[in-house]
Amino acid sequence: MPKAIIVGGGIAGLASGIAFANAGWDVEVLERAARFEPLGAALSLWPNACAAMSSIGVLSAVSAVAAPITAMQLATRGGQTILRREIPDQAMMSTRASLQDALLAALSIERVLLGCKVEHISNDRITLADGATLTCDLVVDAGGIRALSSAGSPPSYAGYGGVLALSDKVGKARLHGLAAEYWGRDERFGVFELQENRRYWFYMRSQSAEASMPSLAMCQAAAEGWPEPVEQAIAATTEDALIPFAIYAKPPPKALNESGILQVGDAAHAMEPNLGQGACQGLEDAAALQAIVSTVPLEKVTAEYERMRLKRARMFVRESTQARFGAHGPRTIQTIFRAALRVIPASITERRMQGMQTMPDYLASVR
Ligand SMILES: Cc1cc2nc3c(=O)[nH]c(=O)nc-3n(C[C@H](O)[C@H](O)[C@H](O)COP(=O)(O)OP(=O)(O)OC[C@H]3O[C@@H](n4cnc5c(N)ncnc54)[C@H](O)[C@@H]3O)c2cc1C
Repeated sequence: MPKAIIVGGGIAGLASGIAFANAGWDVEVLERAARFEPLGAALSLWPNACAAMSSIGVLSAVSAVAAPITAMQLATRGGQTILRREIPDQAMMSTRASLQDALLAALSIERVLLGCKVEHISNDRITLADGATLTCDLVVDAGGIRALSSAGSPPSYAGYGGVLALSDKVGKARLHGLAAEYWGRDERFGVFELQENRRYWFYMRSQSAEASMPSLAMCQAAAEGWPEPVEQAIAATTEDALIPFAIYAKPPPKALNESGILQVGDAAHAMEPNLGQGACQGLEDAAALQAIVSTVPLEKVTAEYERMRLKRARMFVRESTQARFGAHGPRTIQTIFRAALRVIPASITERRMQGMQTMPDYLASVR
């Protein structure tokens, strides 16, 4: 039985672990953290991610703990719609913790080594921080944006950051599956529905990398006069629920095997969060790998993975960077960007969104 070692137990690493196990490989996921904490807030999982989760066999477990997304909307701070789209296929909002739990259950915790920091990596051998070495047939780097195998440009600050949070229950107001972003000038809020009528929300603003992050009171003040869902979400949130973040990203990847190591997730294609597709693309990596390692000989795996994934991954990195200009960057560009979104014929927008949110049939495209 061939063996894969996966460095990193984030969403992409756990999903890839499941993919290899499904394909009949022996697999081990090495994670430097001593335990899995319920860190982070929530993730939008668009139809392409649902298709990927279905391929690796975790869709029903995740959907049992997630809330459906039925429509997405971009609107101004005054609530005027810039773009709205009904989502024709299954999409959902999951807390990171629930998604992580579902992936861990499917992978089985015995396949994960915690407290295991990898110091050095090659394509069939890794060295741990304590000097021990492990060998295998294929090493996969799922170590995130600062992965060990990164060889190109280092991550750079994208010019904005803020706070995100999971709220408590929001009274009676319902969103009915609407995932919404509201764009002001140099700032924006996002509000998404979770199970039990809780909310995942964020506040992002253009600021320097060193600037301090907004407090709950600052978010409340900033939200005055914005659409009701923003105020409702913040009102149901406690200060200790705020998670600060600053956005770092990398240019589109030239390869998905820098330093000769196969990379998945943010290690391969770290992107700005503006399309909500970073983790979705990590799940697609896993679905593609499952199709590939089930079908082609070991020596062709990396090339086949790159052939099937590189172009699509590059497109997401590029488009997520451009989407920043809806609310950040020079104001004239913000104005032009919004106007363009309003005037582009719905049929064109729909085709682009449908293309992004439809996972290619990776199994059918393996050569
Ligand atoms: C504000 C924000 C909102 C977002 N919203 C969404 C969204 O709605 N939908 C979506 O799809 N995506 C979203 N994303 C993107 C998403 O969070 C990331 O793309 C995704 O979490 C990356 O997962 P990963 O497993 O590739 O990397 P990571 O989550 O970074 O995991 C890497 C893991 O590798 C481990 N590791 C690293 N180095 C080593 C080592 N040397 N030895 C052992 N272990 C190691 C780390 O400890 C870590 O656990 C968002 C991102 C941000 C910042």
